[in-house]
Amino acid sequence: MIVKDAVCPFCGCLCDDIEVEVEEGRVVAVTNACELGTTKFMGEKRMKNPILRVGDEWKDITYDEAVKYAADMLLAAERPLLYGWSGTHGEAQCVGVHMAELIHGVIDNTSSVCHGPSILAIQEVGHPGCTLGVVKNRADLVIYWGSNPIDAHPRHLSRYTRYAEGFFLENAFRDRKVIVVDVRKTESANIADEFIKIRPGGDYAVLSALRAIVQGKADTIPRTVAGVTREQLVRVANLCKSAKFGAVYFGLGLTMTQGKYKNIRNAIELVSELSRHTKFTISAMRGHYNVYGSNEVNTWMTGYPFGIDFSRGIAFYNPGETTAVDILARKECDAALIVGSDPAAHFPRKCLEHLAEIPVVQLDPYPNATTAFCNVQIPVAVTGIDAEGTAYRMDGVPIRTRRVLSSDYLSDEEVLARMYALMQEARER
Ligand code: SF4
Repeated sequence: MIVKDAVCPFCGCLCDDIEVEVEEGRVVAVTNACELGTTKFMGEKRMKNPILRVGDEWKDITYDEAVKYAADMLLAAERPLLYGWSGTHGEAQCVGVHMAELIHGVIDNTSSVCHGPSILAIQEVGHPGCTLGVVKNRADLVIYWGSNPIDAHPRHLSRYTRYAEGFFLENAFRDRKVIVVDVRKTESANIADEFIKIRPGGDYAVLSALRAIVQGKADTIPRTVAGVTREQLVRVANLCKSAKFGAVYFGLGLTMTQGKYKNIRNAIELVSELSRHTKFTISAMRGHYNVYGSNEVNTWMTGYPFGIDFSRGIAFYNPGETTAVDILARKECDAALIVGSDPAAHFPRKCLEHLAEIPVVQLDPYPNATTAFCNVQIPVAVTGIDAEGTAYRMDGVPIRTRRVLSSDYLSDEEVLARMYALMQEARER
């Protein structure tokens, strides 16, 4: 059987033109996806059933036993943490928020350790963004700042920018210029028309210099700014001003380096300055396929995009205080539910030391670094492969992922809904 127009559940591009060939309940071939997406569709190392840690051993348990363990653990906790959520669909995220509210817990998603600062900047100065389709069809200048799409979002270049056709561009490959700004020459820099190499931590200064040049104050700029010559900055500022439609895509190389949200604020303000001369837009290169969705769902339901603390009975948000890394580092939470992420692979050691001391349940189809910290791991269906659900592309467009094969795994949403039902029942007693 061949499933057409499947959606790749790997990165924020959410490519929706994938063809998947299924034979005897297994994916045997994938067309159109990049290597990352193909590996996800073909992934074979899935866990077979829920497991419970007993001493140094793992014991197989049923879904009912695993769900009851998780519900009891969360109900018994005084300050439960519900973390992850970017690797699952919106319907499951929605149950997670209800659950956090019921037990007065803290719910945080992976954006608190990736594009959280970008969201803080957007809260201050707004988001002059647009869809990927607009960029593909109109942009004659694309800037990747602190982002290496060839490695992290491989089809961003082929579907929307460097190698894409554009409805309003006669010859997109010739007419569309690509600029890469980074601290080292990446693979993406190799295919760019212009590469700006800046000193680590110099993004804010370079953005400020570009803003000054765009405002007509080039004579105030020193000979070099964070390792970039004034000549190159003036050339790039002129390229931007003379473009018909420009798009900036920024990655963690801008949002998670010195300056953090101030960098993004400065970049957005540069885009606003450029929009006095031409049309310009800016957007984040979101990593997990539904990290954007976790911000959306949390915001509709609580008013806040991540790091939401219900311990007061109402939603409270204070990044740096109510975010997972801070709560773990302060050894505050006494139980953790991890869904669709792998904090053990990314969090600081201090956080993991605390994670090792408290009960942890993880929902994930695959064993990962966090498995070593779990008391129970519950394998679930993979959204976009054997479960369907809604995810948000990096430009904020919601896309319904398709189920390409059937399996006996429960989806995240089903497991969470069962947990939530048990918890509601217990609270009503
Ligand atoms: Fe999947 Fe991202 Fe590759 Fe598209 S670019 S196929 S969404 S991994």
